[in-house]
Amino acid sequence: MRDKQVEKLIKAEEKRQNEGLELIPSENYVSEDVLKANGSVFTNKYSEGYPGRRYYGGQDFTDALERLAIERVCKLFKCKFANVQPHSGAPANLAVYFALLNPGDVVLGMDLSHGGHLTHGHPMTLPAKIYKFVTYKMKNPDTGEIDYEDLRKQALEYKPKIILAGFSAYSRTLDYKKFVEIAREVGAITMADMAHIAGIIAGGALRNPFDDGFDIITSTTHKTLRGPRGGIILTRENEEIAKKIDKAIFPGIQGGPHMHTIAAKAVAFGEVMTPKYKKYVKQILKNSKAMEKVLHKNNIRMIGGGTDNHLILADVFGSLGVTGKEAQIVLDEVGITLNMNSIAGDTRKPLDPSGIRFGTPAITTRGFKEKECAYVAELMIKTLKNKDDKKIKESIHKEIKKLAKKFPIPKRFV
Ligand SMILES: *Cc1c(COP(=O)(O)O)cnc(C)c1O
Repeated sequence: MRDKQVEKLIKAEEKRQNEGLELIPSENYVSEDVLKANGSVFTNKYSEGYPGRRYYGGQDFTDALERLAIERVCKLFKCKFANVQPHSGAPANLAVYFALLNPGDVVLGMDLSHGGHLTHGHPMTLPAKIYKFVTYKMKNPDTGEIDYEDLRKQALEYKPKIILAGFSAYSRTLDYKKFVEIAREVGAITMADMAHIAGIIAGGALRNPFDDGFDIITSTTHKTLRGPRGGIILTRENEEIAKKIDKAIFPGIQGGPHMHTIAAKAVAFGEVMTPKYKKYVKQILKNSKAMEKVLHKNNIRMIGGGTDNHLILADVFGSLGVTGKEAQIVLDEVGITLNMNSIAGDTRKPLDPSGIRFGTPAITTRGFKEKECAYVAELMIKTLKNKDDKKIKESIHKEIKKLAKKFPIPKRFV
């Protein structure tokens, strides 16, 4: 690379990724093929519109490419329509709201402090300024069960146009059938934001909300789907909804699609279709169970009481007297990256909450199995229990580096 300043930073980031362990549950490593497609000449092309209906010439290959991405993702999720143009997860959600709601209309989604996402109505977001968001919660944070009775009560009271299932910090399984039942009762559209677990669903290890009758799925493509940074919106079968969503993406909220990203999405979807990927997502779940076991053994409280998916939300303040922020910093020192996270009913502030959130998608990509994951969990707890002991931390850091070296980030998955 001619630009030495940028090259230096890329190399430094590469080193950081290689030498540390990535436990942020929304992160992953893409294959060399995905990187190649993402860095391809498609980045030079403007292609506003959709295949066969573009506003610029020279679309022979962009049309074929976008059609391929759509065909693959529809096959993966068993749906009729897909929009592969969203630049990321947040614009994907915004587009669905914009497509289906009028200002002031109501969305019923999961409370942020109970695992929902910022884009599900946090007061600082654009959607929250335009639409009205009401929320449902867990009935009991120690089991993670959603309070479906209250969800139904709120649905009957507020008559939401959209009932939204999905989360970024929730480790249990949602009862999609119940969502659909309640939505039908009040005439709401069902939307599942599967940003975190879409890959596990596509790989067949978690339930597909479409199988229970959900209307729409939104997702990112860079989390468990292991593709480029981007978003998708899928519609199970309703063409009218799909058309509205296409219009909401372009010209509604976006301009030209990022065709290089769509190329990389197509490659990632191809990888997701392989038997190897199915094994990968199964291993993600086995690995988080292995970590759960170690936390249980050490009496560390987990929100939801454990995990059914790829992530764990642990109450480190309640269990060890270490705040989420302290835990994030001290684990960073030993080469483990994860994030602090508020927990349900948190008495601490969002910038120094009680919890940490971590997960297994990235380390599973590296080839970690249950044994290594359990060991990492042990090392995490040891670090937190000895957070001021430099010597212990140094020896743990060495162990982490050794593990990272033993399991290099793979370059190809198929
Ligand atoms: C990550 C995430 C998003 C947002 O995705 P970005 O790509 O960061 O915009 C939306 N919803 C959920 C549930 C997420 O986990």
